[in-house]
Amino acid sequence: MPLEIVTVPCLSDNYAFLAHDPKSGETALVDAPEAGPILAELRARGWQLSHVLLTHHHWDHVDGLPAILEQYPAQVVGAAADAHRLPPLDKQVSEGDQFQIGGEPVQVMDVSGHTVGHVAYYLPQSHAVFTADSLMALGCGRLFEGDAAQMWTSLSKLAALPDDTLVCSGHEYTQSNGRFAMTVDPENENLKQRVAEIDKSRADGDPTVPSLLALEKATNPFLRAGDPTIQTHLGMEGADPVAVFAEIRGRKDRF
Ligand code: ZN
Ligand code: FE
Repeated sequence: MPLEIVTVPCLSDNYAFLAHDPKSGETALVDAPEAGPILAELRARGWQLSHVLLTHHHWDHVDGLPAILEQYPAQVVGAAADAHRLPPLDKQVSEGDQFQIGGEPVQVMDVSGHTVGHVAYYLPQSHAVFTADSLMALGCGRLFEGDAAQMWTSLSKLAALPDDTLVCSGHEYTQSNGRFAMTVDPENENLKQRVAEIDKSRADGDPTVPSLLALEKATNPFLRAGDPTIQTHLGMEGADPVAVFAEIRGRKDRF
């Protein structure tokens, strides 16, 4: 039975997520940008927190944790590779590890690039992946630590998940990501349509996260570095997708 997934807006543009198993009552929090909104959501729903899954060590993903743990003695899970710079972990995980939330398997994916050690959590039975600052809606995280090849490998792994996977990413950056995407993929009809829908959602104050993987594959330029139309637009026909990805990422950094 799929877990119930709730998006919790935090800080100015972060998202945390709750994944709740109605049968066992177990509830996982993915990232802890800020305690207040997360504790309020748990209280409003009457859910007991059992796990906290951390994606990476940046302050806007972990700073709310101590105040949350004061209320709920949850098991904290994070990357073994980052244990030295994450809050104290009860469980250290690496690529390929699997554990359970309620009855549901959670698979750990290394998605280094934004940071080296960034992990994603894939829930195959709920058709959801928690990607934080790796794959984002119409974007991807900045390369603070990893290089283009590493991020391209990470994004390619995520792109290989089933099309109906819900991409639960860490920030509301979608509108500006869309404006940038139009500069590298201007003829993409799916992208044009998505950008219009995003503008409407934001005008209505609605989040654009999570998003469907199929739509990311059709519109997110960072997943489309192998696409001939984008390559031609960039004057890089037939180039290695890693080089094309690096060009797109560089242009976004200067955008
Ligand atoms: Zn980050
Ligand atoms: Fe972040």
